[in-house]
Amino acid sequence: MVTFCYPTLKILQQLLITITHHSYSSLLTQKSQVIVVGAGPAGVTLALLLAKQGITVKLVEASRTFRRTFRGEGLMPSGLNALEQMNFSPILDRIPHRPLDAWKFLINGRLLFQVKEPIEPGGKPCTLVSQPALLEALVKEAIALPNFELLQGTPVQELVWEGERVSGVRVGGDRRLTADLVIGTDGRNSLLRQKANLPLEQQSKNFDILWFKLADSPQFEAENVFYSVVQGQHAFGLFRSSEGNLQVGWALRDKTSDWKQVNWAEQLASASPLWLANHFRTHADTLEHPVLLSVVVGHCPRWSVPGLLLLGDAAHPMSPIRAQGINMALRDVIVAANHLISPLRQREQAAIDGAIAQVQEERSPEILRVQQLQAEEATQADKLGNSALLRWGVSHTPLLKYPVRWSWLKRQRQLRQGIAPIQLDNVK
Ligand SMILES: Cc1cc2nc3c(=O)[nH]c(=O)nc-3n(C[C@H](O)[C@H](O)[C@H](O)COP(=O)(O)OP(=O)(O)OC[C@H]3O[C@@H](n4cnc5c(N)ncnc54)[C@H](O)[C@@H]3O)c2cc1C
Repeated sequence: MVTFCYPTLKILQQLLITITHHSYSSLLTQKSQVIVVGAGPAGVTLALLLAKQGITVKLVEASRTFRRTFRGEGLMPSGLNALEQMNFSPILDRIPHRPLDAWKFLINGRLLFQVKEPIEPGGKPCTLVSQPALLEALVKEAIALPNFELLQGTPVQELVWEGERVSGVRVGGDRRLTADLVIGTDGRNSLLRQKANLPLEQQSKNFDILWFKLADSPQFEAENVFYSVVQGQHAFGLFRSSEGNLQVGWALRDKTSDWKQVNWAEQLASASPLWLANHFRTHADTLEHPVLLSVVVGHCPRWSVPGLLLLGDAAHPMSPIRAQGINMALRDVIVAANHLISPLRQREQAAIDGAIAQVQEERSPEILRVQQLQAEEATQADKLGNSALLRWGVSHTPLLKYPVRWSWLKRQRQLRQGIAPIQLDNVK
């Protein structure tokens, strides 16, 4: 039998700590299996999903916090279902969220139509979920895993190539990070897309939105309604966010207008029916200065080059219309995980590069169809905005309201459920 005296035990203990620490830190500096660039909904969920499968993941994010520019909080049943499949839906119960009950469309101060949130039997409603809270909670789970590392406040500056294949990224101070696969989830203005020379085919109708926040009132607290308001050529959407304030997205038709000089409380009030105008005037002092959000909509004919795959807005920037982008990004993640987990485990470059091409093949048809549906919604709004006669007609003639309501409802099933069935394969 071997016995140890106290000093020997102390030395052994110290040795163990040193070995553990060394292997942990070398794990973080060695070549990882995956580098995910961009910690938005696509990047964070994919990084966590892969890390849970034992794959070593580095998640590299430019911003220092998740409270970055507003990027929407509407989750459709398709996105909620994707989170459920990834076993992330218990997180939703712990963070601010708010299911929508109804949609109201107001035109020239009159109600055009109102519909209950369309819910499939046994299904879920469109739900507003605080995006920063969701991302923070997911990252918290990931950080607990020894094979996951988050580099926050670290913008990627360049791709690193080995011949024709992407083998990593360069961040500040000429630091190179290498991996078997780089996944670009760096959003609509993706640097990785540009550096890999993957062109983006943009939809011609890109537009800008001014985003406002202001105080809510008991009326908005009691109801869960998304309002779409058209008054003359002006149009805006309004809802009570999951974080308890009102948020307004104003479609900026003329980018060259001096919108910074506008008295916005008065402008919003003058485009609203009386009850809403009163709210804007009463709470004018709480109206925050607007943020200008550029909306880019498009699709990359190629989402990948060897060693690099783009997902989410980086591959197909989505319009904010009818809350699709986060949901499409989450569904990309499921398909990517299905194709990538096995080749990533085997660390075979040829198999990884074969799998990334299949991701686009499976996802493109749904993305293109959803973008088409979003464009149809925009066209309907444009027609109303451009024709005073049409606005007058639909707001005064009940017979004309029905086709508008019918064509809106017709699109909603696919916009809520997605186009193709998506199922996450055997994941822990
Ligand atoms: C006004 C507005 C409202 C919207 N509302 C909704 C909605 O309600 N529901 C919905 O589903 N969709 C909505 N969308 C669309 C949605 O925001 C996007 O489709 C979605 O965020 C895409 O997710 P993503 O993870 O692909 O990219 P993003 O969410 O854009 O995340 C990209 C991340 O990459 C980081 N990054 C960028 N460059 C670098 C770099 N060089 N190095 C490291 N990190 C980098 C960014 O900081 C960011 O964190 C809205 C969009 C807009 C503009």
